[in-house]
Amino acid sequence: MMQSLRVILKLQELDMNMIRLIDLKEKRHGELEHVRSLRRDLEEQKMRKEHEVLEVKKDIRLAEGEVRECQERIKEFETKQSAIKKVDEFNALNKQLSETERSRVQIEARIAEMSEKLSGEEEVLVSISESLKETEENTKALDAEILGRVEEINKEGRELQKQRDVVAKEVDPEVLKIYDRLLSNKRDQIVVPIENRTCSGCHIVLTAQHENLVRKGERLVFCEHCSRILYWQEHEVEEETTPRRRRRRSAA
Ligand SMILES: [Zn+2]
Repeated sequence: MMQSLRVILKLQELDMNMIRLIDLKEKRHGELEHVRSLRRDLEEQKMRKEHEVLEVKKDIRLAEGEVRECQERIKEFETKQSAIKKVDEFNALNKQLSETERSRVQIEARIAEMSEKLSGEEEVLVSISESLKETEENTKALDAEILGRVEEINKEGRELQKQRDVVAKEVDPEVLKIYDRLLSNKRDQIVVPIENRTCSGCHIVLTAQHENLVRKGERLVFCEHCSRILYWQEHEVEEETTPRRRRRRSAA
């Protein structure tokens, strides 16, 4: 195998670790976002419920004002009525009185209804507040845990980057440029062995001539289908890398 490929395989191993780390970090951030959105949902629910409770209270106060007005009017009618001598005026006033009385009863019934609604809403508000408090306590711990894990990932990432910088210096700059471009396109293994005359990156069968070129290892040979860099698997490499790649593939 070409020496430049040997080094780049080392680089590739670091890069695959880095990609796994980045994916893991993204997953952790997703978890964090999920936890926070749960809390936000409850906060919104609480706010909405508080608003509803306030509105009902306001309606009840308004209705109570209306009841007081009715009572005052009734009192006025009664005072007037006692001074009236004529029967028809007395009767007219009596009619107004009973109408006012009727609306007072109606408003009071409405108040009773609203009060019932209010106590229901207040119960819901209490339970939302309780679950929000519980969620806040849980998420605080979970938040800290996830952030801690992200920090560990970042630390590991910085370490990997350092190692990569060292290894990258050993790689032929031209090869490195090609490799980096392919890596950023595919975000996957770029230097892959031929297995049974098949590119182990895209699993498409190659021609015998193509295989020969790879076996000779005189220059970089790319898969015609996926553009990955191909190498001929020697025994030492085979023992070391094949089982690992198999495992990864079956896990995915
Ligand atoms: Zn291929």
